[in-house]
Formats: sequence, structure tokens, C-alpha cells
Amino acid sequence: MHRSTTLNLILNQCPFALTLYEAHTPRDRDVFQSGIAAHAVLQAVIEHPDEDPKALAESAVRELVTKGRGFYGVPEPPMDVHAATEGRDVALRWLARDFDGIDPRWKAEVMLSVDREWNPCAHDKAWLHAIVDVVGPCEYEDEDFAADGVLVKDWKTSFATDDGALDSIQQKIQAVLVAAHYPDAAFIRRQVTSLRMVRTYTHDLWMDDEGAETLAQWRTDIEHVCAQADAVGPDGKRPARPGPRCGGCPYVLRCEAAREARPPWDGEEEWVHPGDIAVRYAVMVAMVAEMAKTLRHATKEAPIEVDGGTVGISIIEQRKPTPETAATLARAWFDPDDWNAWERENPEVLGMLAAMKPGAAQVKAIGGALYQSRGANKIDDWRERREALMGEALRVVESGRFGVQKS
Ligand code: SF4
Repeated sequence: MHRSTTLNLILNQCPFALTLYEAHTPRDRDVFQSGIAAHAVLQAVIEHPDEDPKALAESAVRELVTKGRGFYGVPEPPMDVHAATEGRDVALRWLARDFDGIDPRWKAEVMLSVDREWNPCAHDKAWLHAIVDVVGPCEYEDEDFAADGVLVKDWKTSFATDDGALDSIQQKIQAVLVAAHYPDAAFIRRQVTSLRMVRTYTHDLWMDDEGAETLAQWRTDIEHVCAQADAVGPDGKRPARPGPRCGGCPYVLRCEAAREARPPWDGEEEWVHPGDIAVRYAVMVAMVAEMAKTLRHATKEAPIEVDGGTVGISIIEQRKPTPETAATLARAWFDPDDWNAWERENPEVLGMLAAMKPGAAQVKAIGGALYQSRGANKIDDWRERREALMGEALRVVESGRFGVQKS
């Protein structure tokens, strides 16, 4: 059986990622946790439309942090409280700000399956299967026409969600499954909702000749991906494609293909083609990003000491702008005889400067331009003056920075 979520691994990463998934290769699921919590809260609100959403959200969090939530019948450990409450806040913020809100006719977490001939079937007979966030009735109406359709809605918690999500294979799978299960619908209203950005992207697919053609094409596209999922080698594995798609791959630190793509440290290869180096570079960037994710978490309290330094979050001093930075720069640059009068007469200049949010690099550059290279007049003590301007325009704050520090 093919699932929409696992087919995504092929498209977003590579076919070997699906093999690693099926082999239950451990993966970091932290990244999904707040999204899972947001979905759990919204599911509870949909299933109990007459109850207080806030109370439902707190019960959902309590359930997640004490019992966890299963995925396809496989129980997951209890969720981290921070992730669960973050997901709750995302869901509640969306409920408070989305004017369309929740329709009491919606059904949440709807399981839809089809057999190899695209006919609706029970889950245990499925060839293709998906759990859809929301399915419900919807209507179209204008002055001389009205029609009943089916809404299929996908909630996303990623900040990066945009209207391109409607073209993803996941959305195509949901549409063809809904079309199979609701053959009498006049149209399918496809929606992707960004919970964080409180934005919904909508496309109505009408079940006319053009719509039927679109669905037929999507079925073919999905069949290509399923065929790729079925194409396993004699060793039972799918091919790996190490490279830029390793970025964000949950298996990058455990994948043998990624490991083999590392540079030839042992010097066996005298010359490596730049194309090979590019692949290896992409894989290593992905590995470093994945290791950094783990280490950020592990070094929240203190960096880890290693031979020659530390790795993790260290406290450093940084110079940050203040609410007065723009005014300080304007005073230094324009040097008016009467600053108060100048400030009153030029609010738009100050407004523009403040809107540019000048930081340490900009203050330094302005100091350089003022005292080092403005016109032909380089001032002898320009470094001291620039430093004094930076001291006046910026404040020193302590903040944590992740990285490698040499001792
Ligand atoms: S790490 Fe790269 S090669 Fe390995 S499964 Fe992921 S995407 Fe494929």
C-alpha cells in the first residue's frame, strides 16, 4: 500500500529514503511535534463543535504529553511539553484570527483509500491511502448558478507554506481520493491553510470535462511515483541519490549512501572532479545542519568540551541597536546646530532611517564614511571616533551563539 506521507519522501528526498523509512531507521521526529499537536487540537475542536476550544486544546495537550499520539497504529512516546504547547498556541491563534473558522459539518482526520483501479475500498485492501485533515460539504453560489461540492483541507504549520503547496503530490493524492469517494460532487474545493500565517490557498476543481482530464493526469503522475516506490533492486533497496536533496532528509546521518558521498579523506583519489565535490559538499552541508539540530538541543545548558575548544551554545557579547540608534546616526551625519529643531523639521528622514533598522554593520559603515572617507577629509583619529559613535548608537547585550569555539 502506498501512503501519501511516505511517497513524499521519494519526491522531497530520494527513493532510498523510503527504504530507510520502511526499515524503521530511527529519525528525528522533533521537527514534526508542534505540527502534530496543532492538528490534534484542531481535530478535537472539529469533533466537539459545541465545546470550548480552549478547554479542548488543553485536554489535547495533556493527552499528548502523558500518552503521546500513534501514527498508523504505531504508538509514539509522550510529546515534549514545549512542542505540544507551541502547537496548541498555533492552532488557537488560527482559530481566533481566521474569520471563516470551523464548519460544524466538517470531519477531521478522514481516512480515504482506493484500490489499484482507483475505486474506493477499505483500508486493508488499499493500494493508495491518505489521512486527510478535513473533508466536508461546501457550496458554490452566484446570481444564476449554485452547486454542491466537497471541501478537502490541509493544515500546514510550516512558515514556508505558500500557494505552490496546491501543486504538491500530496494535494493531488487527496483530490483524486476525494473524487473517488464523492463521485456526485460538482466540484472539489482544494484548500491549503497556513496556520502560522493565517492564510488559506484555494482552488476549485470542477468535475466537468476539463476537471476529469486534470484528475486523469494527476492519477498518472501519482502512478509514476508509486512505480518508483515499487522499483526495488535485487537487494530489496531503492536507489539513493545523494546531493542537495539530502538537505532536510531525516536520515542523513544514518544513510549509507550519504556516508559514502563524503570526501576521500584517505587520499585514495588523487583528483576529484568538481561535480563530485559539489555532490559531496551538498551532502556534508546537510549532515552539518542535522548535527547542529541535535547539538543545539544538547548544549542548551552548556557547550560540550572537546579537545581544543567547545561545541555548542556559548554566551557572547553583541552590539545591538536601540530605539535611539536612528536619531544618533542622523545627529552625527547631519550635525545640525540645533538638533531639536532639526528633529522637528525632518521627521521623515528619521522615520526612514528607523525603518531601515540599522544594526552594528550599518553603524560601523556610517562611522567609516563620516570619519575615514567622507569627501577628501580623512580624520586622523577616525577609528576612535567611529568606536565612540558605535558605543553611543548601540548597546552591548549578551546572547547565545551556536558554533565551534577554539580554546
Ligand atoms: S540522506 Fe540523501 S541519499 Fe540518503 S536517503 Fe536521504 S536524500 Fe537519499
